[in-house]
Amino acid sequence: MDSGVSITADKLVELAAKRASRIQVKEDEFIRVMGFSGKDMGKRVVDRVSFWIVTQENSLLYCRLCGKGPFTKRGTFLHLTRIHRSEIKLMLEEELRKEIKSVL
Ligand SMILES: [Zn+2]
Repeated sequence: MDSGVSITADKLVELAAKRASRIQVKEDEFIRVMGFSGKDMGKRVVDRVSFWIVTQENSLLYCRLCGKGPFTKRGTFLHLTRIHRSEIKLMLEEELRKEIKSVL
């Protein structure tokens, strides 16, 4: 189970970074990672994590993990996936574990 969470979290990093960067994430992308039955859980987890990692002031995006910015949408996405991949993955893992606990 634990390695499953880790693998899933790894795949969700890109989606969380996209969402945090205000780039649209399609329903299909959640289904691809989580399967049809898990897509809603995937959305909840990604929503919570993406809310924490980026802040928006006026129309400008700033990284909340290190305070850098402002970035464009694309710049935010690249910053998050290059610099903070492992941190975001850990946050996703934690949220996934909470979700799994609440289901059991
Ligand atoms: Zn940062």
